Amino acid sequence: MSADRPANSPAVNPGLDGPRAAGTSTRPTRIHADRAGRRLEIDWADTHSTVYDFVTLRWLCPCAYCRGEAGMPGWLDSKPTLTADQTSMTGIQLVGQYAVAPTWGDGHQTGYYTFDALREHCPCPECTRRREQTGSAGRSGHLG
Ligand SMILES: [Zn+2]
Ligand SMILES: [Zn+2]
Repeated sequence: MSADRPANSPAVNPGLDGPRAAGTSTRPTRIHADRAGRRLEIDWADTHSTVYDFVTLRWLCPCAYCRGEAGMPGWLDSKPTLTADQTSMTGIQLVGQYAVAPTWGDGHQTGYYTFDALREHCPCPECTRRREQTGSAGRSGHLG
């Protein structure tokens, strides 16, 4: 009931600045594959930063071959010993506005890592703790 709208932001869509800033947590502002350091760095629009080492990232590969599909186990379910090639990233491509597809040293490139999933699996202590607090209770069965 007051006239306190900011006068200096005329073009801002009021919807974007509302209480739910959910979108920003899965919108990357920077993605950097550090091949020498063997890690993938992602900065998010909400200022959070996520760093995956390549080995962790390869284990998260969401493709049907690695994960399996329709109830069939995937290659990663057989707990393979990953070779240096399989955990070296030779390139990474944006997939639309929602995912990245790394190319691995063994030529594997069918895993589309969505930004949602990358943020959800963020291995930093803060996110790990939050997953432990909110996670374990509810959901059985995981995303496939
Ligand atoms: Zn895969
Ligand atoms: Zn995190």
